[in-house]
Amino acid sequence: MGKSPAHIIKFFQCFLIDWMEKYDVVVVGSGPAGIGAAFSAAKLGLKTAVLEKSNFIGGRITAGYSLLIDGVYTEDGATKLVGGLFDEIIGKLQKENGARTNEDKSISLRQEVARLVLGTMAAELKIDVYLGSLVDGVETEGTEVSSVYFSGKNGWTQVGSKIFIDASGDADMESLIGLGTLASEEEKHHYARLPFRIAGVDEAKLADFAAKSPDKLSVIKGKDGRVEAVQMHEPLALAAQQSCKFQLPIGDRRILYATPSQGEFVCTAPRIAVQNFASGYEKYYAAEITTREAFAFHWFLKSSVPGFAGSRIEDTAHELLLGNTRSATCEYMITEADVAASKKFYDGIARCGTPMELHDEKQGVSYKYPEAGKGSWFQVPYGAMEVKSIDNLLVAGRCICAEAAAQSSIRNTATSFATGQAAATAAYLSFKFKTKLKKLDPKLLQGTLKEQGCII
Ligand SMILES: Cc1cc2nc3c(=O)[nH]c(=O)nc-3n(C[C@H](O)[C@H](O)[C@H](O)COP(=O)(O)OP(=O)(O)OC[C@H]3O[C@@H](n4cnc5c(N)ncnc54)[C@H](O)[C@@H]3O)c2cc1C
Repeated sequence: MGKSPAHIIKFFQCFLIDWMEKYDVVVVGSGPAGIGAAFSAAKLGLKTAVLEKSNFIGGRITAGYSLLIDGVYTEDGATKLVGGLFDEIIGKLQKENGARTNEDKSISLRQEVARLVLGTMAAELKIDVYLGSLVDGVETEGTEVSSVYFSGKNGWTQVGSKIFIDASGDADMESLIGLGTLASEEEKHHYARLPFRIAGVDEAKLADFAAKSPDKLSVIKGKDGRVEAVQMHEPLALAAQQSCKFQLPIGDRRILYATPSQGEFVCTAPRIAVQNFASGYEKYYAAEITTREAFAFHWFLKSSVPGFAGSRIEDTAHELLLGNTRSATCEYMITEADVAASKKFYDGIARCGTPMELHDEKQGVSYKYPEAGKGSWFQVPYGAMEVKSIDNLLVAGRCICAEAAAQSSIRNTATSFATGQAAATAAYLSFKFKTKLKKLDPKLLQGTLKEQGCII
C-alpha cells in the first residue's frame, strides 16, 4: 500500500524530532531571569539550553547597561530580599572587581566583567548557550509546547524540551502561541531609554559643587569617599531640560550612578515614548533621538557642572531599554493594589520591594512606594508565572503576569534573578515527583528554594 502525503509529512516530522536536540529545560532569553533559570536548572542536574537573540549573555545588564542592581534590599536598606544563586553570582563579580556594593545597598556592575563571569559559569555548568538565536516559532501539541524554532544565520533550527521557561522579557513565546498578552494593550506608550557611560569625571570637584549648591545637586558618597550617585534638583534639572529639550527625572531618584571604576558614571536620562515597541522603524527613530539626547545632556553637564569639564561619553548601551512591553497571561495577575498593599501570597516564591515607576508625558518619571513605607515588600506568587492553558511553560522576570505599574516594580534585576531560580526549581520538582507544574505543592517549592538560600 502506498503512503499518503500525511504519512510522508509525519515521517519527516518524526525524523526532525528525533534528530533535533531534546532538553529537560529550554530557557528563552539570557537576562537576569534567564540566567537565574538556566544556571539553577543546570545546578539541579537538568539538561539545559539557553536561546538568546543578542550576541551577549546577560540581557539588559550587559547589552542594555542596566548596571545598577536594585531590589536586593528594601528601599530603607533594612531587610534583604534576594539570596540564593544571586548572591553566588555577585560574589564572583566582586572577586573580579566587576561589582561594587553602594551605601544604599544597590550594586553597581561593569558589563564587560558580567559577560566574562556569566559566560564562564554557563560553560562550567555545561549549559548549551545559543547566541544570535531569535526564537520566532513555537510548536504545541495539545496543552504542551513540544518545541521552539530559532532563526540564526543558517536559517531555522528546531529545539525540543520537556519544559520551557520564557525569560524573553517580552512574553514572546506566549505571543507566538497566540495566547493573550498584557501590558502592551494596557499602556499607550512604552518608554525607550538609552543609558550611556561618562568617564573622566573629577569626583572631588563634583562633590565640592554639590556642597556649595545644594539647591541644584546632591551627591551620595560611599564610605571610601567615592561619589556613588547624583541627584539633580529642580533649578538645574529645568535648566538642563531647556538646554537639551527633553524631560529629566526630578526627585529623590538617582540620575547618574557610579560604576565600579573611579570617575565613571552611568546615566539613564535619555528617554522617548514609543507607540509600538516591536516596530523596527520606531526603534531606529528612538535610538537616533536618544543618542542625540545623550550627547546634548553630556554637553550640558560639561558646561554647567564642575567636575564634568574634562569628561567624555565612553559609550552608550548596545540596546535600547524598553519598559513595560508585554507580559504573559497566567493563572494570577499581580495588580498595582497588590504592590501598594505589600501583599503576601500562599504560593509566594520571591520578594520585591522596589517602588513602582510611573511615567507621565508632562510630569516625567515619578515613583510610587508601598502604603506601608520604604521598609515593606510584597511577594511574587508562583501563579503569576504559570502560563494559562499550557502545562509545561513558565515565565520569569519581566514576562511575569502583572499590571503595567506592578510590572515596573517586579522587573528589577534582583527579583528577576529570583523568579528565574524559582521557575527552574519548579521544573526540577516536577521531574523529581512526576507532577505537572500546575499541580506542584507551593510549600514544597518554597521549602526547596529556602534550602538553596533563597529568601521568600
Ligand atoms: C530604562 C530601564 C532602566 C532600568 N534600570 C534598572 C536599574 O537601574 N536597576 C535594576 O535593578 N533594574 C533596572 N531595570 C530593570 C531590569 O533591567 C530589567 O527589567 C531586567 O533586566 C529584567 O530581566 P529579564 O531577564 O526579565 O529581561 P531582560 O534583561 O530584558 O532579558 C531578556 C533577554 O531575552 C532576549 N530575548 C528577547 N526576545 C527573545 C527571543 N524571541 N528569542 C531569544 N532571545 C530573546 C533578550 O535579548 C534579552 O537578553 C531597568 C529597566 C529599564 C527599562
